[in-house]
Amino acid sequence: MLNLVLFGPPGAGKGTQSNLLIKKYKLVHLSTGDILRGEIAAGTSLGLEAKSLMDRGDLVPDEVVIGMISSKLDKNVNANGFIFDGFPRTTEQAKALDILLKEKGTYISSMISLKVSDNELIKRLLERGIESGREDDKNEEIIANRINEYNNKTAPLKQFYSAQNKLSEVEGIGSITEIAERINTVIETI
Ligand code: ADP
Repeated sequence: MLNLVLFGPPGAGKGTQSNLLIKKYKLVHLSTGDILRGEIAAGTSLGLEAKSLMDRGDLVPDEVVIGMISSKLDKNVNANGFIFDGFPRTTEQAKALDILLKEKGTYISSMISLKVSDNELIKRLLERGIESGREDDKNEEIIANRINEYNNKTAPLKQFYSAQNKLSEVEGIGSITEIAERINTVIETI
């Protein structure tokens, strides 16, 4: 199985690159952000709980997202592999993911981390906010909070995967195709 963690700050291009990778390698895309937005749209109690946190740019509790990922893994037993996009975002989540995958006889193949400067991230997210209407892309204060959450709670995960010799950093500035090629080069060495 090919199990990739696609990593990087908000606006790094994880969703865009995931969509290319799932086609090329026939993987199942698990984006916790997408799953949470689906829960909000469906008006579930989980969605209701998550919405106010997401709108502020705060993280949703670990047990909520871990439970979501666990049930998606159970629903895709015959998958070729998974792309984890926006998950794990805390050390607690990364440890839980290792355990869940181990129970299924598999493991994370690699973490691919997209590198993009803060200025470029803010620019991209504000542009996306105009098109998508996403509440958390609408103002600079919320975006700054998301980047802050990333720097404090999520960026340390690079250390977690690097200690397992699984971290590859990829320059996230350039055209979508250029970045996709850089990612493919990394995957071919796994
Ligand atoms: P982005 O990467 O652009 O910030 P996402 O769609 O991945 O967007 O996430 C949007 C929001 O959903 C986050 O700001 C957070 O509130 C919540 N979220 C998504 N994934 C997680 C996660 N793994 N742990 C906690 N909160 C999450």
